[in-house]
Amino acid sequence: MTRVARANTVIVGSGPGGATVARELARSGDDVIILEKGGYHRWPVGSVLAYATMYDIKKSKDGVLVRRGITAGGSTMLYSGNAYDPPSFLKEELGIDLAAEVAETKKELSIQPVPESFYRGYRGTMRMVGAASELGFRMRPQERFIDPELCDPACDRCLFGCSRGAKWTAREYLADAVEAGARLFVRHNVVKVLSSGGSAEGVLARDRYGQKRIMANRVILAAGGIGTPIILKKSGIADAGGHFFTDPMSVMAGTMKDGAGTYHEMTYTFADESMAGEFVVGTAGAVNAFMAQIAALHLAYLPNGMRMKRLAGMFVKLCDEPSGSIDEDGTMHKRLTDADERRMAEGVDRARRIMIRAGVVPGTISVAKGIGGHPGGTAAIGRIVGSDLQTAIRNCYVCDNSVMPRSGGIPPVLTLIALGKKAARSVFAA
Ligand SMILES: Cc1cc2nc3c(=O)[nH]c(=O)nc-3n(C[C@H](O)[C@H](O)[C@H](O)COP(=O)(O)OP(=O)(O)OC[C@H]3O[C@@H](n4cnc5c(N)ncnc54)[C@H](O)[C@@H]3O)c2cc1C
Repeated sequence: MTRVARANTVIVGSGPGGATVARELARSGDDVIILEKGGYHRWPVGSVLAYATMYDIKKSKDGVLVRRGITAGGSTMLYSGNAYDPPSFLKEELGIDLAAEVAETKKELSIQPVPESFYRGYRGTMRMVGAASELGFRMRPQERFIDPELCDPACDRCLFGCSRGAKWTAREYLADAVEAGARLFVRHNVVKVLSSGGSAEGVLARDRYGQKRIMANRVILAAGGIGTPIILKKSGIADAGGHFFTDPMSVMAGTMKDGAGTYHEMTYTFADESMAGEFVVGTAGAVNAFMAQIAALHLAYLPNGMRMKRLAGMFVKLCDEPSGSIDEDGTMHKRLTDADERRMAEGVDRARRIMIRAGVVPGTISVAKGIGGHPGGTAAIGRIVGSDLQTAIRNCYVCDNSVMPRSGGIPPVLTLIALGKKAARSVFAA
């Protein structure tokens, strides 16, 4: 028997898109249910076991790895916590001005560049920064969703989840939403949107007891750049899933001549953004640089795990073309186009020069290629949703990274929070 629950608004997914909208709507008095496919994981947070529990890591048919979080809070549970202003095309080409919401969020969450006191003791990272400067590249200390007072600068486990509560995650907004009356159902996998006469009337979900209908006057999909198009396709919007981008990275690891690597130094503390829109080059902690080699099955690199203190890392994050697609069964098609490959090669060459100048032995540099973490584009504004984020099914909206028409080549969480706030206060408030 199919069980039934009711709300005015059902929100699917609890990452920065879904949690922000849920918090705004619940605070304004709306009757909200949030459905989240993952669990509310606690014990793996901060441990390497996060990879086995909260992560979903899949390879596209063409060899690009894509990582996302399947857990309450979505991918923010596993993100680095770097904050970037929205890409300029949102305002210039789509007329979406998020300046007020970005300023509000930065103030509310005290987003600021990491202070000098935080990275003063970093040896390997600062050598990379110095080497970059000698080569004419400026690496900037990053703005982060991190409270430097609570954060341990020698931890470098942001990607496993933060056990110290130093990193903002969407779980904070979820908690606010629940406090304001929203109901959060975890381990609910939404299959499709239910509609009648072209208008949404709820969703069909599966939990461990079987099928459940959650009936609602409107549905807001925020299941991310992979989850949302799968639901849309199963709901009859066949064109969803195209124009897929992921911002794939090349993560590089190498051995420092004299041992001063980036072990116990936080990943993505500094970055050179002079080529943003094409690629960004940043510093990486030794453990993350090593783990990336293993994830890319560079198994010959395994013995370097014994010499972790000598390892130093860097990454190149590519602004890839929206050339991929996702099938209804979740199969991903994503390869780097020739133009992507050229830009990636340029970024890797820049990072390699910086590493060698900083003292990395050239022959030890290993490059794990094509690791994406910002899936989007698959329900883009102007293609699948209108400027009001509504799909072809009336009262069914999307508010997550899938609505971005193309990649900005920069981490998107601040943009998604600002977009969620703006949408909740304008189109969803009506
Ligand atoms: C390792 C890593 C590091 C990153 N670092 C940064 C960074 O420093 N800064 C930054 O801005 N961004 C970073 N990102 C990217 C960022 O985390 C994501 O782009 C962002 O969280 C996307 O938000 P979203 O709301 O679109 O989707 P998500 O955060 O992925 O949330 C989607 C949610 O929907 C749920 N869901 C999926 N399918 C269903 C379904 N069928 N039914 C119910 N629920 C479903 C998922 O479980 C998930 O909780 C990083 C990502 C990764 C993986």
